[in-house]
Amino acid sequence: MNEPYTGGCACGAVRYGIAAEPVGMNDCQCRQCQRESGTGHASHLTFPRSAVTVEGEASLWDMVGDNGTVKRRAFCPVCGSPVYMLFRDIPDYFVVRAASLDDPSRYTPQLVSWTAAGHAWDHLDPDLPKFDKMPPG
Ligand SMILES: [Zn+2]
Ligand SMILES: [Zn+2]
Repeated sequence: MNEPYTGGCACGAVRYGIAAEPVGMNDCQCRQCQRESGTGHASHLTFPRSAVTVEGEASLWDMVGDNGTVKRRAFCPVCGSPVYMLFRDIPDYFVVRAASLDDPSRYTPQLVSWTAAGHAWDHLDPDLPKFDKMPPG
């Protein structure tokens, strides 16, 4: 296996380590990701939760997506950075933000979701597969 994926918030109060490869990587242009990131999209790596260890106490905020998906957003109570996200209905997923990684160059997006909400100024790799909302499946 490769080196574990490590990362955390901007101030270092919340840290994670993941001893597995991501099961998926995507840019998401939905309005929720826009509001949370403060820009045009968020970049996510999804990992199997069983491979994850977290240090420090994140603040949690549950929110409901367009299709009823309940997402638990975990952010640092000190610096406010989004650190990870969990899904109530997919408990084995642990999703981190690409730039929270200690080495963000390990992020290689495979697709773009929610282009229906995207903005012209948020220009993403034209070669990536794009989906109006979530990819099927
Ligand atoms: Zn922090
Ligand atoms: Zn999104």
